[in-house]
Amino acid sequence: MKQEIAIRTESLTKRYGEKLAVDHLDLTVAEGEMLALLGVNGAGKTTTIRMLSGLSVPTEGTAWILGKEVKKEKDAVKRLVGISPQDTAVADNLTVEENLKFMAGICLGEKTRIRDRVEEVLKSFHLEEVRTKRAKTLSGGWKRKLSIAMAIIGEPKVLFLDEPTLGLDVLARRELWREIEALKSRMTIILTTHYMEEAQALADRIAIMIDGRLEEIGTLAQLEEKTGKQGLEEVFVYVAEQAGNQNGSVKRG
Ligand code: ATP
Repeated sequence: MKQEIAIRTESLTKRYGEKLAVDHLDLTVAEGEMLALLGVNGAGKTTTIRMLSGLSVPTEGTAWILGKEVKKEKDAVKRLVGISPQDTAVADNLTVEENLKFMAGICLGEKTRIRDRVEEVLKSFHLEEVRTKRAKTLSGGWKRKLSIAMAIIGEPKVLFLDEPTLGLDVLARRELWREIEALKSRMTIILTTHYMEEAQALADRIAIMIDGRLEEIGTLAQLEEKTGKQGLEEVFVYVAEQAGNQNGSVKRG
């Protein structure tokens, strides 16, 4: 079976004044693939995700989501993607169910479909026990789960998860991994994370961004072979240090 391309970028660039946040990024992600995007603080991961989901306009270059061009076909792209941002899009004063209904209303429109889909997602994300709780009373783990549930309620083909387990305890993180794992194959996913074990456990391929540039991309085995290092943390440190040696120190933040 021919594998379709879900995400493609060509020289995708974002400049904030003097700062090149994303520097001529060329990237291809296959349909159904999960790609982990790694990089130190300020490497350009969030900016990349924001451009790919139509929330930020590229300064230069182009990106396509399932063949739709992000700059020219913004509405079509927005229908294809879901995003769980770092600062979750959850409304604190609404209950879990109300948050899901609100998002379903935006994405789906048709009333009966909204009701059914909210029930479906409450069940599949094991959110039923907190359905009537206001979001502000949820623990960090439940809130992230709700944020991801909201991102997939419109049945996106491409999902962006920006640091989905940031700050969670180890059990909450493992639980969220299971939810993310269950989404795999059903959609194409780009996940940003600072947790190497998370990328290693979940992703099919790993991309390493340093100072806005894509330094390396491949499976863990490919990256290990290329760098001669064992384990993702060693690979990551090696790639970051090599890039730092070539370009002066790696700037953070
Ligand atoms: P983190 O891991 O901390 O989330 P990141 O890899 O997601 O970092 P970005 O948030 O994409 O990095 O930021 C890339 C660079 O662009 C940083 O230097 C940041 O300060 C800068 N930047 C991001 N958004 C803006 C903005 N709206 N205005 C000016 N500079 C920005």
